[in-house]
Amino acid sequence: MTSVPTAVHDEQHAEAQATPPITMFGPDFPYAYDDFLAHPAGLGSIPATAHGTEIAVIGGGLSGIIAAYELMKMGLKPVVYEADQIGGRLRTVGFPGCDESLTAEMGAMRFPPSSTAFQHYIDLAGLETRPFPNPLAPETPSTVVDLKGETHYATSVDDLPEVYHQVMHAWNACLEDGADFSDMQRAMRERDIPRIREIWSRLVEKLDNQTFYGFLCDSPAFKSFRHREIFGQVGFGTGGWDTDFPNSILEILRVVYTGADDDHRGIVGGSQQLPLRLWEREPEKIVHHPYGTSLKSLHGGEPRPAVTRLHRTAGHRITVTDASGDIRTYAAAIFTAQSWMLLSKIACDDSLFPIDHWTAIERTHYMESSKLFVAVDRPFWLDKDEETGRDVMSMTLTDRMTRGTYLLDDGPDRPATVCLSYTWCDDSLKWLPLSANERMEVMLKSLGEIYPKVDIRKHIIGNPVTVSWENEPYFMGAFKANLPGHYRYQRRLFTHFMQDALPEDKRGIFLAGDDISWTAGWAEGAVQTALNVVWGVMHHFGGETDASNPGPGDVYDEIAPVALDED
Ligand SMILES: Cc1cc2nc3c(=O)[nH]c(=O)nc-3n(C[C@H](O)[C@H](O)[C@H](O)COP(=O)(O)OP(=O)(O)OC[C@H]3O[C@@H](n4cnc5c(N)ncnc54)[C@H](O)[C@@H]3O)c2cc1C
Repeated sequence: MTSVPTAVHDEQHAEAQATPPITMFGPDFPYAYDDFLAHPAGLGSIPATAHGTEIAVIGGGLSGIIAAYELMKMGLKPVVYEADQIGGRLRTVGFPGCDESLTAEMGAMRFPPSSTAFQHYIDLAGLETRPFPNPLAPETPSTVVDLKGETHYATSVDDLPEVYHQVMHAWNACLEDGADFSDMQRAMRERDIPRIREIWSRLVEKLDNQTFYGFLCDSPAFKSFRHREIFGQVGFGTGGWDTDFPNSILEILRVVYTGADDDHRGIVGGSQQLPLRLWEREPEKIVHHPYGTSLKSLHGGEPRPAVTRLHRTAGHRITVTDASGDIRTYAAAIFTAQSWMLLSKIACDDSLFPIDHWTAIERTHYMESSKLFVAVDRPFWLDKDEETGRDVMSMTLTDRMTRGTYLLDDGPDRPATVCLSYTWCDDSLKWLPLSANERMEVMLKSLGEIYPKVDIRKHIIGNPVTVSWENEPYFMGAFKANLPGHYRYQRRLFTHFMQDALPEDKRGIFLAGDDISWTAGWAEGAVQTALNVVWGVMHHFGGETDASNPGPGDVYDEIAPVALDED
């Protein structure tokens, strides 16, 4: 995800140490998904009469695999359809011809500790994480900020010129004045639901029409155009905020409140291992299926291919046609691919969703994103410049074409990788017409201007690997980002798992995944929506949770997202 500077809240950092950790608990739907997952009573049960019933799960990304895994444990028989590869936007690729241990994260690559439901599955899958080398992060050896041709080298934020500190303070002040930042974070840490709802309902009402940029302009702290420009170009988290400027400020506040941009960790060996391990995992506790059952074994090894048609048939059932021509009918289906797929690649009946939900699906707005990685012979960037004694190259934030360059190594004597460029929105579109090699040439030229003494090319040991998510056949961009005025649409999509209020002929298909989440672009949101539809499907089949571990639907009325006037 594009990251938003949570800024360096020095004073707040001390407070943070003394209080419970910040997690992605709210602000829209303050439900403790982490406690729900950790509870020994499990996520609920389905009547034995429904055991063995097939349900369709469309999309084998993280949300589809988690929903399928949990419903399999309850005794249903998920049938997963995947058009591309298991993992979706958790896509880890190798470098052809290079050491097999070298990998590149084409989608998600860094995860905040506040992603506690996501972490539950990391632990379940037995995966390890390690600090991700973000700009100015404690474990990042050095960072270079290059703006308007001026280059600054820093090992911590203190090394940056005064103007950067002014920008940082402006952002802190702007968040405090305009969005009750400390109050909200305190309420989230303490899981104080009434307080979270009180603050957030006021802000949703006030700010749904506001862009990120408009929010900055409205703040006296950001009256300087130059400060806004620097903030947009570099920021203080992971860079590139200006690409988020047209989005709703509510999207940005969700990121900063929940610490989504802080203390990132990467998954050792690559993030795609997570959905792949869950696909193969044989749960210790499983109902109906014999011990040793996995999603993989239920599917004979491979998921079904792409879905091409979805329609309703008698008895409010969902009929699914796939790319092989196979037609199957289900009592329930979960849809986790990007919602625009329902408008384009999949032929759909209007009757699948109420008209207001179709409007919300149509209005979905995506961020584009491109990345390019190269494998190199060794982490040459740690060599010291003879004149200055500094690292010869650093994690780099710049207003040039590359925007963000990340240096990833596994120790001094091993080959390493460089993400030469990670971009979003217009900056991503600039790469679109270029081949991988053409992109690399432009990137090397940009970086050559910043590091005239370093010959990056001589360290490259294989062909570059690249992606532009807006150009992938089964994706419509990297992740959703709501525009001003989109709150109502988002609310309709997120709350769709509560189907008792829908007409009977509109039930039985459930939406989950990044598009449905309040924190799109963060895997935690995809996990949370998967757990919502697990509850929704369980309820649809007459099941229930254990009274000691109420699910998201059981407490929905107490914590439902703020409803804005629809007139
Ligand atoms: C560039 C980028 C950077 C990111 N960075 C981060 C990050 O640093 N940290 C973080 O936490 N999150 C990050 N994310 C977000 C994270 O990757 C997503 O939230 C998460 O992977 C979404 O999972 P999902 O299951 O909702 O969707 P997906 O992973 O998109 O899964 C949907 C699946 O549906 C499949 N599909 C599409 N059409 C069909 C069809 N017709 N039939 C069957 N299947 C179909 C797709 O192939 C896909 O596998 C990033 C995403 C991107 C793209």
